[in-house]
Amino acid sequence: MDLACRNCNMADDIRKNATAWCETVQSIVTNPAVASCIKRRCKDAWIVCGDPENHCSTHPNALGYRVPGKSSANLCIKNFSNANATGAIVIHEWAHSCNWRDGQGQGVPGGDGYLNTDHY
Ligand SMILES: [Zn+2]
Repeated sequence: MDLACRNCNMADDIRKNATAWCETVQSIVTNPAVASCIKRRCKDAWIVCGDPENHCSTHPNALGYRVPGKSSANLCIKNFSNANATGAIVIHEWAHSCNWRDGQGQGVPGGDGYLNTDHY
């Protein structure tokens, strides 16, 4: 598993939290294609705490985002006081890289819309 958290504060805790979510993906995500795609991301995609698209800096409440065409999950780390919720956001962003869209539900964390504000 390569969950390299480049530039991440709390990198160890973020990795632990994301790993825990990865272990539950198969049982919580109801769309099998999305679930196995996320499992692949758990193995080979990155968690990035930089802000390559300047999305965190221009959206003060954003928790994370995905750069179109890339499979990494970008965290707006300044908006987390600890790593407890980071794994859910990571799974959510990886789901987007698996052609899942906000509002589709299917057990993806935040799929009911609570993460919809200021993120993509
Ligand atoms: Zn989303």
